[in-house]
Amino acid sequence: MEDIVIIGGGVIGTLIAYACSRYNCNVTLIEKENDVANSTSMANSAIIHAGYDPRDNTLKAAMNLRGALLYPTLCRELKVDYKQVGSLVVAMNDEQCAALAELKARADQRGIVVSLIDGDEARALESHLSKRVVQALFCESTAIVTPWKIAIAAMETAMGNGTRLLLNEEVKAITKLADGYEVESATQKIKTRMVINCAGLYADRISAMVNGQAHFKINPKKGEYFVLSKRCHELVKHVLYPVPTAKGKGVLAVPTVHGNVLLGPNA
Ligand SMILES: Cc1cc2nc3c(=O)[nH]c(=O)nc-3n(C[C@H](O)[C@H](O)[C@H](O)COP(=O)(O)OP(=O)(O)OC[C@H]3O[C@@H](n4cnc5c(N)ncnc54)[C@H](O)[C@@H]3O)c2cc1C
Repeated sequence: MEDIVIIGGGVIGTLIAYACSRYNCNVTLIEKENDVANSTSMANSAIIHAGYDPRDNTLKAAMNLRGALLYPTLCRELKVDYKQVGSLVVAMNDEQCAALAELKARADQRGIVVSLIDGDEARALESHLSKRVVQALFCESTAIVTPWKIAIAAMETAMGNGTRLLLNEEVKAITKLADGYEVESATQKIKTRMVINCAGLYADRISAMVNGQAHFKINPKKGEYFVLSKRCHELVKHVLYPVPTAKGKGVLAVPTVHGNVLLGPNA
C-alpha cells in the first residue's frame, strides 16, 4: 500500500510530490498525459503575481501572498529561472484610477510594497506605454518564471528521492477502502492511504469519484496569446496589466524569461 497517490502532474501536483519526497513515505504521482506540465501549467502568463489582486478573505489571496514569498527560494533550489521584472497596472481615466487606489490599499494591508505613479513616471519606466495612461500602480516584486521547467525540476527531484511517476495513466475510478483508497487507471490498481487531488480542470471529476458528487464545479476558460519574436524584447520590460475587472486580469503584455513578449490572453 502506498502512503500517498497524487493525481495530476501539473505545477501543483509536482510541487506537492517534491514536498512529500522530503519525508519517509511512499508516493506515486499519476498523470494522464505523456509528460508532466502538459496542460494549463505549460501555457499561461508565467507571472508570479505579487498578491494584491485576489479578493480579501479568500484562500487564493492567502496562498498567492505566501506562494510569491516562497518562489525565489524554490526556484533557486530547483535551479530554474526566476526573473524579478516588476509590474505596472495602468489606468486611463478617473474610474480606473479609483480602482488603482483600491488595489494600493489592499497591497498596503497585505504588506506588499507598491507605489502609485503618474503617467510620465510610468512612461519613464516603460517607454512604449500609451500617452493616455494617466496613472499606474508599480510593484517591484512581480516576477516571471518558466512554469513547465518548475514542474519538470520538481518531479525529477522527487523521483531522485524515490517518488514513482506513472504517465499515460488516466484515473478512471476511486474506491473507498476501510484503511484508504484504491485508485484505478487504465493498467493500474493502486491501494493508498491518502489521495491528493491535483487534477486541475478535472479536479471536480476526481472529487466526484470519491464523493458521488463534487462539492464544486469547474467552468473552464481558455485563453490564447500572441508570442512575439525576441526582436521585440525592447518593447516590454515590465509585466503590464490593465485595471482588472470582474471578468479577470484582462489582456496583458508580458516579457518572458527567454526574451519574447506575450500578448494575451483572450478568454
Ligand atoms: C490563460 C491563463 C493564464 C494564466 N496565467 C497565470 C499566471 O501568470 N500566473 C499564475 O500563477 N497562474 C496563471 N494561470 C493559472 C495557472 O496556470 C494554473 O493555476 C496552474 O497551472 C494550475 O496547475 P495545476 O497543477 O492545478 O493544473 P494542471 O496544470 O491543469 O495540471 C493538472 C494535471 O492533471 C492531469 N489530470 C487531469 N485529470 C486526470 C486524471 N483523471 N488522471 C490523471 N491525470 C489527470 C492533467 O492531465 C494535468 O496534467 C493562468 C491560467 C490560464 C488559463
